[in-house]
Amino acid sequence: MSEVATRFWLCDERATERFGRLIGRACSDGGFVYLDGDLGAGKTTLTRGVLRVLGHEGAVKSPTYTLVEPYSMLTPPVYHFDLYRLGDPEELEFMGIRDYFDHNDVLTIVEWPQRGAGVLPEPDFRVRLEAREQGRQARLEVFTERGMRMVDSVVSLSEMNEDQA
Ligand code: ADP
Ligand code: MG
Repeated sequence: MSEVATRFWLCDERATERFGRLIGRACSDGGFVYLDGDLGAGKTTLTRGVLRVLGHEGAVKSPTYTLVEPYSMLTPPVYHFDLYRLGDPEELEFMGIRDYFDHNDVLTIVEWPQRGAGVLPEPDFRVRLEAREQGRQARLEVFTERGMRMVDSVVSLSEMNEDQA
C-alpha cells in the first residue's frame, strides 16, 4: 500500500523488547503483523515484548516445531507463528489457517512469513529486522489502512518514550 518505510534503531536486546511493547500497545485491538529478518535478527525478542505488554508473564519461545503458539487468554488473543520449518505453504491450509484470519480482534504475528507466500494473506504491516554493527535496524512497512493507524501509533508512542528519557 504505502511505500513509506519507518525506521527505528534498536541498540540492544532490551530496545528490541521495548519496541515490541510499543507494537503490542499499537495492536491492542488486534492486527496482523509479519516479522521478517534472518535467524537471530530479533523476531522472537520483539514478540516477547508484544506478549509482555499484553500481560503474558511466562516464557516465550519460537514455535519452530509446532508452527504456532496460541496465547488465547490475552486481550486481544495472540497467535505467534514461526513458519521457518514449513515445507510447503499448502500445509497452512491443512492447519486451518483461514480460521486465524477470520477474526479482526486477534493479534497474529508471523515469523518467516515468506515460507507461507501465496497462502498467507497480506499483513497490516511488516517489521523488517536487520543486524547492523552491534544492534538492529527495524523498518515498518504498511499494507492496510488499519496498519497505517498502527504504525502511526507506534511512532507517537516511541516519541513519547523519548520525551520521558
Ligand atoms: P529470531 O527470532 O529473529 O531468530 P531471536 O529474537 O530469537 O531472533 O534472537 C535474537 C538474538 O539477538 C538474541 O540473542 C538477542 O539477545 C539478540 N538481540 C535482539 N535484539 C538485539 C539488538 N537490538 N541488538 C543486539 N542484539 C539483539
Ligand atoms: Mg524466532
